[in-house]
Amino acid sequence: MVGSSPLQAVLVAPGVKDTKVLAFERRDALKDKDAASGLLRAVLAANPAQRTAFYAFDLARVVDLYWAWRRALAGVRPCYAVKCNPDPAMLGALAALGAGFDCASRTEIEAVLALGVRPRDIVYANPCKPEPHLEYAAEVGVNLATYDSEEEVAKVKRCHPNCELLLRLKGPDGGDARVDLGTKYGAHADEVVPLLRAAQRAGVTVAGVSFHVGSGANNLAVYRGAIEAARAAFDAAAALGMPPMRVLDIGGGFVSGPTFDEAAAVINDALAQHFGDLPCVEVIGEPGRYFAETAFTLAARVIGKRTRGEVREYWIDDGLYGSLNCIIMDHYVPTPRPLAAPRPGEKTHTSTVFGPTCDSLDTVVTGYQLPEMSVGDWLVFDNMGAYTTGAGSNFNGFATSDIKIYVVYSS
Ligand SMILES: *Cc1c(COP(=O)(O)O)cnc(C)c1O
Repeated sequence: MVGSSPLQAVLVAPGVKDTKVLAFERRDALKDKDAASGLLRAVLAANPAQRTAFYAFDLARVVDLYWAWRRALAGVRPCYAVKCNPDPAMLGALAALGAGFDCASRTEIEAVLALGVRPRDIVYANPCKPEPHLEYAAEVGVNLATYDSEEEVAKVKRCHPNCELLLRLKGPDGGDARVDLGTKYGAHADEVVPLLRAAQRAGVTVAGVSFHVGSGANNLAVYRGAIEAARAAFDAAAALGMPPMRVLDIGGGFVSGPTFDEAAAVINDALAQHFGDLPCVEVIGEPGRYFAETAFTLAARVIGKRTRGEVREYWIDDGLYGSLNCIIMDHYVPTPRPLAAPRPGEKTHTSTVFGPTCDSLDTVVTGYQLPEMSVGDWLVFDNMGAYTTGAGSNFNGFATSDIKIYVVYSS
């Protein structure tokens, strides 16, 4: 870490230092019903010309979450999954704190290297990589990547022979995750030995094992099963006479809050049980949602209104083709509220909120209770950091990248 405090280190980090960071005192937020609204109001007060949807990104939240991770999972280095939210201030702050990175494409690797991160702090964690991206990884010295097919071994041998591999295992079933990844990725139990053999025959080093139990896993016992399966793969490699494996990558799936502490307890216990006799194994994780989800709050502006009897219909300037794509892609359940403080005795109306594009699918909530709002009012969406801006489109000329992200630091 650079600098004398986490705050300083983060404020001078590449990706952050050229951004205006608005300092915000949390006790000011106490005047508001909730801290997130307080942050948004502070941003608007400092930027009165802001008339379109915007984000407040609280760097302090990332710092807090980083230290919470280090406390709960002291032996596991977090390698932030860039796809979750590639905001440069996010990447720069995490790099300054000491995190590594999980990149899945050339562009993600470039973004992280541009911030001064060393290639060896990057894991190229996409089990199926386009050849030009793999050749780029070879060029810049990103030498650790995941695989779960024999074809990938042949490709790595061809395009990046010095690359070491992590065998991606399918996570156990029953994780009850928000987004299951096991339908697409991960070796099944009976594929482990053939995949190890394929690498052995090709002369490609298998440095270890990775898995991902699914994003937003609710049944935390899956971490235990996955760590047990990872140990079995370590033992299978040893039985084949392969060089000892040295990396265990426990993937992502974490949600901040009490669930995270429970997951950490399960993981620590399973690591002690299954890897206690291998103290030299480096354990890393690939959290995305954990760091990003709660650090970003969205304010969308009411740009239109229709009254139909008792029912109110509103149009806002972000929607399902923009950063609220998370409603479809990430099963985000929107519970927007007005930024304006509630007036005493205020009535609510059954309301529909539409996004700005001309597609009727672009509907954010229906049958939702909201107080009477006017054009120019703001709606607040909490926990909008994970799988939001990164997957938005330019559909109908509404560019997700136009949604400004204000970086704040609450203390
Ligand atoms: C998406 C992804 C992650 C991040 O997952 P979260 O659930 O956001 O923590 C980590 N690793 C890989 C390989 C992924 O595809």
